[in-house]
Amino acid sequence: MHALDHLFVNNRNWAGRIREQDPEFFLNLARQQSPNYLWIGCSDSRVPANQIVGLAPGELFVHRNVANLVVHTDLNCLSAMQFAVEILKVRHIIVCGHYGCSGVGAAFRGERLGLSDNWIRHVEDVRQKHNGLLTRLAGDAETCNRLCELNVIEQVANVCCTTIARDAWKNGQELSVHGWIYDISDGLLRDLNFTVSSDQQTMAAYQAAVAGLSTTVPSRRSTHSLRHPKLDGLKPSSSN
Ligand code: ZN
Repeated sequence: MHALDHLFVNNRNWAGRIREQDPEFFLNLARQQSPNYLWIGCSDSRVPANQIVGLAPGELFVHRNVANLVVHTDLNCLSAMQFAVEILKVRHIIVCGHYGCSGVGAAFRGERLGLSDNWIRHVEDVRQKHNGLLTRLAGDAETCNRLCELNVIEQVANVCCTTIARDAWKNGQELSVHGWIYDISDGLLRDLNFTVSSDQQTMAAYQAAVAGLSTTVPSRRSTHSLRHPKLDGLKPSSSN
């Protein structure tokens, strides 16, 4: 008995259940994938992309990293985007953040986690950029949730500014980029009303999305999950 045998048991049960419903499912999937969507989300184990939107294997192309960041020089994210848009011809790119994000929380509180501080620094940039909007909110929980939302909006704008999105639009390819946020405490997605379908729309849509946030109060639901239980156990200087 090996430590991870139960995962292989789970896998066989899962594959068996799917084959019961559709004996050809895996054979068809092995021939090709044709997803309509690219999901750029957080690595957080509580935010499983396919399950949240009820999509089967083959229907969602996924890239995840800490705090769902789209960094202009990140070849990993850019390669996933390029493959999804130019090869798979996805119609939609969804950037999905979540309330109670540990990466955003660390940036908000200025915590030291180790190497990942250099990655999370991008969220601190978002915080500094929108400091005026954030300081208007009363409590830390609300402010951190707002930062989660602003982080999504900035990442959507980053997607729209890539050569990948711009070239797709220039070539007449149908492509929309969306900003969503997920609430771990109720399992529900919320549209941040930032959807861009052409290069020309990006700036006006960005400004409208940020302005829209400045007139609303962020979700209060996830204040209890502002801190991740495992991160709470980390020492400030731990590099994990
Ligand atoms: Zn997260």
